[in-house]
Amino acid sequence: MSIADNLTQLKKELPEHVTLVAVSKTKPVSDLMEAYHAGQRIFGENKIQEMTEKYEQMPDDIEWHMIGHVQRNKVKYMAGYVSLIHGVDSLKLLREIDKQASKHHRVISCLLQVHIAEEETKFGLDENEVMTLLNSEEVRNMRHIKITGLMGMATFTDNEAQIRKEFDTLSDLFRRIAQDNAGIKTLSMGMSGDYKTAIAAGSTMVRIGSSIFGARNYSIQK
Ligand SMILES: *Cc1c(COP(=O)(O)O)cnc(C)c1O
Repeated sequence: MSIADNLTQLKKELPEHVTLVAVSKTKPVSDLMEAYHAGQRIFGENKIQEMTEKYEQMPDDIEWHMIGHVQRNKVKYMAGYVSLIHGVDSLKLLREIDKQASKHHRVISCLLQVHIAEEETKFGLDENEVMTLLNSEEVRNMRHIKITGLMGMATFTDNEAQIRKEFDTLSDLFRRIAQDNAGIKTLSMGMSGDYKTAIAAGSTMVRIGSSIFGARNYSIQK
């Protein structure tokens, strides 16, 4: 199946209210352009340098999403164009995004990454930390960032029930904070292996790579 066929197939399966982020990390611009010509306009990357190189070579009507862990000293390279940063997990990072976005007279949308997986290695905040950031006077006064939702990654496992439980936990938190915060509207959860479970649990945005572009070959990366 071609990239265009994969996209068509996937879009048939996604409910109207679910946004598809095509995760194109490690893939060449030619693959992204194939998806672009098939109508895809939202791309997700996990490295700022790689995303910026692709941004410079591709059409202007694309929304670029940073889905990976963000190093503060690299925010400046994407502040001029990035439209959504999924992995925000600290006040210091929010401060830097706000500062860099102000230089471009932009407002950058951010999702708070919540730790829902069993694994220690995955980044993210716990519920208390999410509440503290949302209620912080300093954050509320930031004029160049907008917190628009939450993002999470389930444990990498075949145990469907566990994945569902983790997504339900995040979805429950999302609904509670959306009640008290008008701007909270995006719940980013679900990848190639678990997006159906994520959507059943209430996801509004899925980040899908290999089901569109095929398996990634990390050995050919620089
Ligand atoms: C790579 C990646 C994805 C997409 O993974 P696939 O399994 O290829 O769909 C989604 N989210 C994040 C944060 C990723 O790094």
